[in-house]
Amino acid sequence: MKKIGVLTSGGDSPGMNPAIRAVVRKAIYHNLEVYGIYGGYSGLINGNIKKLELGSVGDIIHRGGTMLYTARCPEFKSKEGQQQGIEQLKSHGIEGLVVIGGDGSYRGAKALTEQGYPCVGVPGTIDNDIPGTEFTIGFDTALNTVIDAIDKIRDTATSHERTFVIEVMGRDAGDLALWAGLSGGAETILIPEENYDMDEIIERLKKGHERGKKHSIIVVAEGVTSGTEFGKKLQEATNFDTRVSVLGHIQRGGSPTAFDRVLAARLGARAVELLIEGKGGRAVGMEQNKIVDYDIIEALGRKHTLDMNLARLAQELSI
Ligand code: ADP
Repeated sequence: MKKIGVLTSGGDSPGMNPAIRAVVRKAIYHNLEVYGIYGGYSGLINGNIKKLELGSVGDIIHRGGTMLYTARCPEFKSKEGQQQGIEQLKSHGIEGLVVIGGDGSYRGAKALTEQGYPCVGVPGTIDNDIPGTEFTIGFDTALNTVIDAIDKIRDTATSHERTFVIEVMGRDAGDLALWAGLSGGAETILIPEENYDMDEIIERLKKGHERGKKHSIIVVAEGVTSGTEFGKKLQEATNFDTRVSVLGHIQRGGSPTAFDRVLAARLGARAVELLIEGKGGRAVGMEQNKIVDYDIIEALGRKHTLDMNLARLAQELSI
């Protein structure tokens, strides 16, 4: 393999930049040429492809977002779109592709692999919902952003003796809500992996109030319900002064944490090694602090699982 490409796709996540940097520098270290595909699969179809040098990825290690930009590209779900993408890659002499993104982007990489074009997936999403890795690039940064917000909300919640409902991202996964709720000391955490009982939540809030608790913090994963709707219901049922904060896209930005930068470096570098070894159709991940790789097609058939022991622990610690 002499030339490889790299793209970022789907929702952006903090840490994509250090992942791109790792791919580019590792490839050049091994005397490969690297091409950046700008704008995800959309840029691939349209041939928005440029050669990257060592300096192209200078000064990005600490920046959120992605210097290659990202996009959603429905055309890439069709065979024709995928064929156009492969033709563009071949016309530039690019023999393998690193795709940094979430599960949708993995499906694109899987489609190319099934058509005989070697791709390696690198998990980049704040949702932590990719099977085959304990952590995805961006999750830790988003988590720290959410904790920072919860800590600030806690100050004002205490001063005014209010109940706060905080809606966090995560799509269909409860990881961000659970980890943020546990580390932010939330009274209640609602995650899509578990049904919730409104009466029980109200009971807990009332008991806490009787015990003299000055505030209550409830973290709601976006995959469960709208925080605004839930806050309304809670206010009606308890008559407690209830406010809602939907954290939104601030969770997707910001300088990546050290953890995410190291993870990005390790996973990006491993993806390049796999292409050099002639192993396409793989996805990289981290399990028990070891970098692993697995079949991308088989991996998408697996389900991401949340550690329910953490949910139990959060409940025990918030009595
Ligand atoms: P994420 O990668 O963050 O999960 P999306 O689900 O939006 O984001 O997927 C990103 C892009 O991946 C889509 O816009 C599309 O171009 C491509 N993609 C998603 N699903 C498929 C599929 N089944 N086949 C081919 N490409 C896909």
